Amino acid sequence: MKRIVNHKLYWVPEGHEKQYKNWIKKLNKSKRYKHAREKNIESGKPTFEDLWDLFLPSAYRLKAYMDFRAYQEDQEHAFDEQFYLNSFYEGCFKFFGITCCDCCGRILKDEQNPKAYKWFCEFEKEEVENIKKKLKGPTVH
Ligand SMILES: [Zn+2]
Repeated sequence: MKRIVNHKLYWVPEGHEKQYKNWIKKLNKSKRYKHAREKNIESGKPTFEDLWDLFLPSAYRLKAYMDFRAYQEDQEHAFDEQFYLNSFYEGCFKFFGITCCDCCGRILKDEQNPKAYKWFCEFEKEEVENIKKKLKGPTVH
């Protein structure tokens, strides 16, 4: 079941989140990573870790949206979450007419298919309501 975080649908599966955290833990053991991290903190820049924390949910949501849009358009969509995550990290925030926020990767607008994005947001709202209902369980009168 999907989760709700900050009143929004959270697209990162729990298993993936765990994998990602383990990966960061391993990275922390590397001297090069540690050094880069300390340098970033010193100069007040976001660390690699901070960025991935911000970008991870956005990359998963963008992937989910691209699947959704491709289905509406009867097209194939072959990119995965990792592709979007890497692109964000490399400073790319525009994909197929979709503009994402350059600080967090959040979708700002889809100029190529605004209708699909509207439907997607409606679909998410419904999902949130469904999850809330399930969490509450059957109403007892
Ligand atoms: Zn942002």
